[in-house]
Amino acid sequence: MTTPSYPALSLYIDGQFLGAEGRKTQPVLNPATNQTIGTLPHASTEDLQNALNAAQRAFLTWKKTSPLERSKVLRKVAELARERAQDIGRNITLDQGKPLAEAVGEVVFCAEHAEWHAEECRRIYGRVIPARQDGVRQTVLREPIGVCAAFSPWNFPFNQAIRKITAALGAGCTIVIKGPEDAPSAVVAIAQLFHDAGLPPGCLNVVWGVPHEVSDFLIKSPIVRKISFTGSVPVGKLLGGLAGSLMKRCTMELGGHAPVIVCDDADIDAAADTLVPFKFRNAGQVCISPTRFYVQEGAYDRFVARFLAKLEKVKVGDGLLKDTRMGPLAQARRVAAIAGFIDDAHQRGATVLAGGSALPGEGNFFAPTVLADLPEDSRLMTEEPFGPIAGIVRFKTVEEVLQRANSLPFGLASYAFTGGTKNARMLSEGLEAGMVSINHVGLALAETPFGGIKDSGYGSEGGLETFDGYLNTKFVTQLN
Ligand code: NAD
Repeated sequence: MTTPSYPALSLYIDGQFLGAEGRKTQPVLNPATNQTIGTLPHASTEDLQNALNAAQRAFLTWKKTSPLERSKVLRKVAELARERAQDIGRNITLDQGKPLAEAVGEVVFCAEHAEWHAEECRRIYGRVIPARQDGVRQTVLREPIGVCAAFSPWNFPFNQAIRKITAALGAGCTIVIKGPEDAPSAVVAIAQLFHDAGLPPGCLNVVWGVPHEVSDFLIKSPIVRKISFTGSVPVGKLLGGLAGSLMKRCTMELGGHAPVIVCDDADIDAAADTLVPFKFRNAGQVCISPTRFYVQEGAYDRFVARFLAKLEKVKVGDGLLKDTRMGPLAQARRVAAIAGFIDDAHQRGATVLAGGSALPGEGNFFAPTVLADLPEDSRLMTEEPFGPIAGIVRFKTVEEVLQRANSLPFGLASYAFTGGTKNARMLSEGLEAGMVSINHVGLALAETPFGGIKDSGYGSEGGLETFDGYLNTKFVTQLN
């Protein structure tokens, strides 16, 4: 049964919204109830090819469209996103589960991504290199790379998709994006925003299907020149491997396992107060979520007490209810995954300080969980949990904790809290990560680069770096 208030879902190909007619479909569930709320059409092979052909055709004119004109479309998208944030946010809560305020906030915040790319696309400069010979002019041009294939995940369905789309379109590329089938309404809403903002047909195409079938088809197509993926490390390696074998450029924003280092000399209460809402935001299903808490011995008891006291205020419930601070996990498979981390911790003698199990009743609800006394090789301390679970352990010295924090193959976000400038410098220089945030949580702004190192991927979204992955560098030298 389809809930009337959930929107009809569609593909968006060559400027047309296409429904289920004759196509395979899949149900969309509300994770708060596990009831079916919508039906998502899958793209046939013909649809995928049509999307690619449309993107290729549109590229011929979009790449020549002036940055000022591209900028106008992106600015209009920002304006429309703000106007429609309540509706789009509500639908995100319905299919993804996060509390309504977080969902609406995601849309409002992302309007800034559209604005940032609108501003920066007017500053994609080349340069002139002084020549050795009289009469020679040497220039470096930056040209859009071509048709992009993007794959965006379900945890921030609006944010992750719009960052990829605005970067590609701002650079003068065109794009075929496969959004998250689990939480699709936001990406259909984005297509509507661009449609209404006057984006020419074919520049943006939205497709759905069986993820590995769609990615295989799109990445192997000779039309596609660039791949952008946000998701898990194993899938990123798979797609990156395929793209690499075909010499296609990639931006990979993959998983993380962010360490948080709280030193004795930090403002301990402020650290705990900042970290609890940040940890349990989006039920911990965030690639930059703090996951490994290393607290220095002298601060440990106070930090844990404050953290647990603050945690009591995190009310779990349906994201549409006003007082809910943490919604359900996005899919039943996440509940099973988090339970697996807790089973492993139990077997290794860990202490459960809070939560520790799924909540009874319908929906994918899980209690916010805090574990202590975890061995360093436990699953929680080594594998990305991607859920509402925090492991808190002790450390003695900054040198020692740096070594422990850097011991995993991940390198996305990391956090530290300290009152000392020497500690702050040692940590910011020593942490192996694409992003380090000290004494606050200040990542993922439109104007700052977002991306990881090591297994967490390569390339940046946002900041001045945002267009790097979407542009070719061409050197031109001319005599007379
Ligand atoms: P998953 O590995 O099955 O899928 C992760 C994402 O990749 C999903 O959006 C999925 O639709 C997509 N995907 C899977 N196989 C694909 C393929 N062959 N081609 C294209 N896309 C494909 O895991 P999951 O259960 O959906 O999510 C949990 C894991 O995903 C977590 O461990 C987390 O690391 C990761 N994840 C990371 C982010 C992030 O922001 N970096 C976001 C969502 C999920």
